[in-house]
Amino acid sequence: MAVPRNRLSNSRKNTKRSHHAKKPKTVVGCSNCKSPVLPHTICQACGSYGSRVVLDVKS
Ligand SMILES: [Zn+2]
Repeated sequence: MAVPRNRLSNSRKNTKRSHHAKKPKTVVGCSNCKSPVLPHTICQACGSYGSRVVLDVKS
């Protein structure tokens, strides 16, 4: 296994980790009922995907 030659300073460590933050999830409104859904997923509220209704949702 490779062994690091020099100790990584706190500054270098933190600079390296500056790209590691979690990004917020993208949420879009359903085109049918306007409820928030993740992109490319079936709406759990009305069962539609895009412009089609693909799921029977019991209300
Ligand atoms: Zn919907």
